[in-house]
Amino acid sequence: MKNYIAFLLFIVFISCTTETKKSEIAEVNQTTLAKHIERLASDEFLGRKPFTEGEVKTVNYLENEFKKLELSPGNGSSFFQEVPMVEITGTPTEKMIISGKDDSFNLDLLKDFVATTNKQVSEVSLDNSELVFAGYGVVAPEYEWNDYEGVDWKGKTAVVLINDPGFNSGDSTLFKGNEMTYYGRWTYKFEEAARQGADGLIIIHDTEPASYGWNVIESGWTGSRLVITSDLPLLNVESWISGESAKKIFNASSIKVQDYKALARNKNFKPIPLELNTSVAIKNNIKKDVSKNVIAVVPGTDRKDEYIIYSAHWDHFGIGKAINGDSIYNGAIDNASGTAGLLAIAEAFKKSNNTKRSVVFMALTGEEQGLLGSAYYAENPLFNPKKTVANINIDALASPGEMKDLTITGYGQSEMDEYAKEAALKQNRYIIPDPDPEKGYFFRSDHFNFAKIGIPALYASGSYEGFEHSIDEIKELKNNYLINKYHQPSDEYNSETTELSGVRLDLQLLFNVGLKLANEDYFPKWNEGSEFKAARE
Ligand SMILES: [Zn+2]
Repeated sequence: MKNYIAFLLFIVFISCTTETKKSEIAEVNQTTLAKHIERLASDEFLGRKPFTEGEVKTVNYLENEFKKLELSPGNGSSFFQEVPMVEITGTPTEKMIISGKDDSFNLDLLKDFVATTNKQVSEVSLDNSELVFAGYGVVAPEYEWNDYEGVDWKGKTAVVLINDPGFNSGDSTLFKGNEMTYYGRWTYKFEEAARQGADGLIIIHDTEPASYGWNVIESGWTGSRLVITSDLPLLNVESWISGESAKKIFNASSIKVQDYKALARNKNFKPIPLELNTSVAIKNNIKKDVSKNVIAVVPGTDRKDEYIIYSAHWDHFGIGKAINGDSIYNGAIDNASGTAGLLAIAEAFKKSNNTKRSVVFMALTGEEQGLLGSAYYAENPLFNPKKTVANINIDALASPGEMKDLTITGYGQSEMDEYAKEAALKQNRYIIPDPDPEKGYFFRSDHFNFAKIGIPALYASGSYEGFEHSIDEIKELKNNYLINKYHQPSDEYNSETTELSGVRLDLQLLFNVGLKLANEDYFPKWNEGSEFKAARE
């Protein structure tokens, strides 16, 4: 009898503790997660490419799931934000002409140069446009740096280096040393040149600071590209030239310096006219279409107009070149995992008590084509960016089991690191910075477009050391993914073999971070020296 009572008490005790635990923090449910990944990554969704039957199936599925969870629509009475996009197929002239006082020569398309435009017109050109060397093409007030100063750029074409002055300088105080700042990315360089009013921009390719070879430029900058309709200024021509071509240009120019990199790294650098002109033209074929971001909200109770935004891109590559007889690019990891994660986190928020602030769930389009859905959102926000507390982005969760680490891409940028650290410690995990900061991964997924308009962003997952897998095992599994699955039809879900406990643990952490933010009054800040701080203040 005594034992029986003790046993009953024990049961009561057990159920009490699990009950209190439940009301404290909801669990991100692994069954929910698995169910959505399996569906989204199935052949039925045709690889989820924008403008295809796969898009229609995907966005309808997401709308339906948000409705089932009783979330509110994020755009008035609609769960959709329409994202107008344009497909531009450009055909450049075979030659880029470089002409000087005494001499002129041509660069050959693909071998020596590539040229594109984001302008939605049938033809663009540079006509005898004056070439001016503009160092790294950087205007960075926080480093008191301006490579464009003192020149009227109208009608001129800037020639710049890839990466930023810190790279390979041996000086960790020059910008961020080898860690790439946003000023090092080609996207920034084209944007800045357009802001300066230049006609064109030519980036000099260099394998090490670009982190990829000329072959990537050759294949990535030809054929068609998708762009969003935007009010931002645009260049007539965006171009890359090979390092060899750059040498030829500098040799033919007035400055004739060999070490133009050292010149560009100098703090007192001023733009240098090369006394050369260039001509090139591009004929464009233009096709317009509309894709969709899918957006849902759990409204807050007393700070309803302040928002935490979770984001994950729903799109992938659709149907393409068959590999081993399979032509559907299912994108199970990239990014059915994140999209399913969004739904699983939304479910956890619905299971928890109401939050003070509103929590937004955003499934974005066009990430694989250049972060287009998030870029469009950043230009056309539905929630006041000044009142948007933080962005938590989920892209390609792949950990093969529970991880000891939480790797933070863009570590050091903002106080979001502290939130991540606290949540990681509660899971007995440690945080580490991205091991390859020189590759600029912080600028390569959707959170970056939130950062650009000043919203502190967190992009983190376990990817270094497992509780069950050693550092070396994880490294091998990661390499295996990059070589055999990444952006290939083999990125598939298998209910028997795909291990989701680690993905679930990462999502639980991201949920915990968002839950904390959703119940406090504080706005996390960008750290001193961050290139995004100015946009917030
Ligand atoms: Zn992705």
